[in-house]
Amino acid sequence: MSLATSLDELSLSNSFAALPPDFYTRLQPRGLTAPRLLHANEDAAALLGLDPKVLGSDAFLRVFAGVDPLPGGDPLAAVYSGHQFGVWAGQLGDGRAHLLGEVAGPDGPWELQLKGAGLTPYSRMGDGRAVLRSSVREYLASEAMHGLGIPTTRALALVVSDDPVVRETVETAAIVTRMAPSFVRFGSFEHWASRRQPEQLRQLADYVIDGFYPACRTAGEGGAPYLALLREVIGRTARLMAQWQCVGFCHGVMNTDNMSILGLTLDYGPYGFMDAFRLDHICNHSDNQGRYAWNRQPSVALWNLYRLGGALNVLINDVDAVKAELEAYEAEFTSAFHNGMAAKLGIAPWRPDDEALLDELLKLMHDQRADFTLTFRYLSDALRGQSQPFLDLYMDRDGAKVWLDKWAARQDAMGGDRASRADGMDQVNPLYVLRNHLAENAIRAAKQGDASVIIELLRILKNPFLKYPNAETYASLPPDWASDLEVSCSS
Ligand code: AMP
Ligand code: MG
Repeated sequence: MSLATSLDELSLSNSFAALPPDFYTRLQPRGLTAPRLLHANEDAAALLGLDPKVLGSDAFLRVFAGVDPLPGGDPLAAVYSGHQFGVWAGQLGDGRAHLLGEVAGPDGPWELQLKGAGLTPYSRMGDGRAVLRSSVREYLASEAMHGLGIPTTRALALVVSDDPVVRETVETAAIVTRMAPSFVRFGSFEHWASRRQPEQLRQLADYVIDGFYPACRTAGEGGAPYLALLREVIGRTARLMAQWQCVGFCHGVMNTDNMSILGLTLDYGPYGFMDAFRLDHICNHSDNQGRYAWNRQPSVALWNLYRLGGALNVLINDVDAVKAELEAYEAEFTSAFHNGMAAKLGIAPWRPDDEALLDELLKLMHDQRADFTLTFRYLSDALRGQSQPFLDLYMDRDGAKVWLDKWAARQDAMGGDRASRADGMDQVNPLYVLRNHLAENAIRAAKQGDASVIIELLRILKNPFLKYPNAETYASLPPDWASDLEVSCSS
């Protein structure tokens, strides 16, 4: 397939817009004034079959600044509902997101969505805008997650302007163009179930099955395809949670409207990759109760899946079968988490008595606030005979040594080739993650119109398992000034 050399040559399919009109409101984005392209992502363009040369064109800037329409697109804001912080919030919807259209890429469809392109009927109290700060964070995080091999929405472009946006202070506006095969959320299903509109619920479920889970169609008659859909979403969500936990990622706002029906990491707001480890680390300053603390994420995901199961049961009509599927979540999560951790510790395949070894490590890390990423990364050095970098992460080195000796004994019992095992650990334990202070450095430069930090971070985070020359600062612990960085729902 030859690359599209202009946006007009993209092949648009717009399947979501073909759903009945009560699923969305058709509307044009409201563009930024005097927009500037801060960055465009060639990797994302490739998914669309778009020639990277187009990214530098004025036509590209105008479309992804929300000024000109996407040729062949059918722009809309989708409606959904959801539970926020455990409480039913009723109708929500794309309050500052415009779905421009769906591009048939070489390997599948990609919806293109502007975030921050003005008011929609679902904006409620909001202004439809997004600030530069949160837009840089979303742009970087989605590509960082992809580099880690974790399912996520992608980012195509980051456009900025001097348009003022009022948050705690006056900031400036930006628009991120996000991409995903679909932006349908758990809350999209809750929406129709709560309104007792089973016909729309069925249309949505059929849309998702036919587009993204076609094998579910063959599961049988009646409610069987919807039960199969639930089973698939439970599996994907369980595996996603295991992947989040294995890199020390906190989402921050795991409301049901931020849970992707495709099992993608979706809606990057006050997220965080942990530096100093705490089991109950809360990355979102607005989360007073710690509902979305790191160690609660897997169970919150299950809580959210119960809400999805409740909605889908309108079509399935078999509470016991739905419950049985939900009860399979824990085993699915645990097995994915144990396999992931076994690989990180270089002890695969996981044995039941490894639970104690892992728990002791997490407790040690928690008690001593050890760095999450480097704790795992430096274990491979220990396997190569260099345990000092690992021990230096701990204030009480004797305590750390006790654990390390237990781990070394487990290693001794394994036999095999240590060098290749250490190399394998380096392929699952990143050296670099998008630490908050790194994102902050990118934001500070971006405010001056300087995209160089974004470019450098994207280069490294694209493959964070390699060690790059002269990149030590990207791997190091946060500097002192970063200790009072706070991220909240304000975006
Ligand atoms: P969130 O939990 O941040 O993903 O957003 C919850 C809801 O608030 C969604 O329906 C968003 O579209 C909406 N929302 C958040 N910020 C804004 C804003 N600045 N303007 C309009 N709607 C917003
Ligand atoms: Mg959201």
